[in-house]
Amino acid sequence: MKSVSLIVVLFAGLSLFSCNNQSKENKAADTTTVAKTDSVKFTAAMVDNKRDPSCGMPVSAGIGDTAHYKNLVLGFCSKECKDEFLQNPGKNIAAADLKK
Ligand SMILES: [Zn+2]
Repeated sequence: MKSVSLIVVLFAGLSLFSCNNQSKENKAADTTTVAKTDSVKFTAAMVDNKRDPSCGMPVSAGIGDTAHYKNLVLGFCSKECKDEFLQNPGKNIAAADLKK
């Protein structure tokens, strides 16, 4: 009888252990998800322009890079378009189709 109760205790201990392991794994998975979210590209909702001022592409099609100009966050399809904009932002801003 003693050995039976010992097995029960052991089993209970083991399942507690596996529960703990599972929650740890879940936490690790959550961290991975957060890290992925951090590296996720900008969305059209996060920028103040509707169009990439350099090529005219709607930012909703995808934002590859952003630039701060005055108090605005501008989205661009690529770093090249951002660089082009920054060469003459005062002139190019008109093509950005600002939301505000
Ligand atoms: Zn572009």
